[in-house]
Amino acid sequence: MRRRHLLILGGTGESRRLATRLADDASWDVTTSLAGRVSRPGELPGRVRVGGFGGAEGLARWLREHRVDGVVDATHPFALTMTEHAASACATTGVRLLRLERPAWEPTERDDWRHVDTVADAAGLADSLGSCLLVTTGRQEASAFAGVRARCLLRSIELPAGPLPAGREILLERGPFTLESERALIAAKGVDVVVTKNSGGGATAAKLVAAREAGLCVVVVRRPPRPKGLTVAADEDEALTWLQTESARRQRSNTSKVTP
Ligand code: NAP
Repeated sequence: MRRRHLLILGGTGESRRLATRLADDASWDVTTSLAGRVSRPGELPGRVRVGGFGGAEGLARWLREHRVDGVVDATHPFALTMTEHAASACATTGVRLLRLERPAWEPTERDDWRHVDTVADAAGLADSLGSCLLVTTGRQEASAFAGVRARCLLRSIELPAGPLPAGREILLERGPFTLESERALIAAKGVDVVVTKNSGGGATAAKLVAAREAGLCVVVVRRPPRPKGLTVAADEDEALTWLQTESARRQRSNTSKVTP
C-alpha cells in the first residue's frame, strides 16, 4: 500500500520536532514546506520544499499534484496568512488538516504586561514606557520601531531590513535563550521594557521570567484570531495521535470499500 503523503507547513520548532519523529514512520511520507525567510534554516529530515505556493489556489494545486493526504499547519502563531490559505486549500480539496499551535503565554500575578494588537502599537507604547527596549518581535516588522526615541536592542535571527531606529543595537541570535543569559542581558544593557509577540512555547520564554524578576514592564502583541473550525493540537504528541487516528480512519474506509 502507498505511504500517505503528509505536508507539514513549517518554520517552527514544533514542525521540526514533528518531522523528526515521523522520519521512520511506515505510514507517512513527509514533506516539510518552508517560506524561505531564513537563509540557513538548519537540517530537516525528509523532503523539504522552499518558497510560497502562490496563494490558497496555488496550495490547492500543489496538494492535488503531489497527492497529499494530510496537512499539518505548524506555522508560527503569527503566520496568519499561511494558516488562512491552508484552511481554504484543504476545504477546497478535501484534504484533512490539523493546526499545530503551541498555547499562548499567560501572565502571572507578578507580571506587568501591557497588551496591544500590532507591532506598530507595541512600538508606540513601549517608547512611552521606557528608555531601553529589548525588541524581540522579529526582523520582518523591525521598521515599526524606526521612529522611536528609546534605545532599541533589536534581537533577531537575521539582519532586519528597512528603516530602523537611530539608537539601535542589533543582536543576531537564535533561541533558545536561558534565564541566566536573559538576566545578564537585561542587567548589562539597562533594559527597562521588553517587547514581544505572544509566541508561546519554552524556547523564548525566559525573557518573561527575567522581566518579572527585574520588575520590568512587558509589551505583548496579542495573537491574531485564527480561522474558525480548525482542529487544533497543542504539541507534537497530540499531532501524532491525530495522525494515528487519521491512518486508522483511512484503513477502515479502505476495508469497507473492498468488503462485498
Ligand atoms: P505569513 O504572513 O502567514 O505568510 C505569507 C506568505 O508566505 C504565505 O502566503 C505564503 O506564500 C508564504 N509562506 C508562509 N509560510 C510558508 C511555509 N511554511 N511554506 C511555504 N510558504 C509559506 O507568514 P510569515 O509570518 O511571513 O511567516 C513565514 C514563515 O516564518 C512561516 O514558516 C512561519 O512559521 C515562520 N515564522 C514566522 C514568525 C512570525 O512572527 N510571523 C515567527 C517565527 C517563524 P504563498 O501565498 O505564495 O503561498
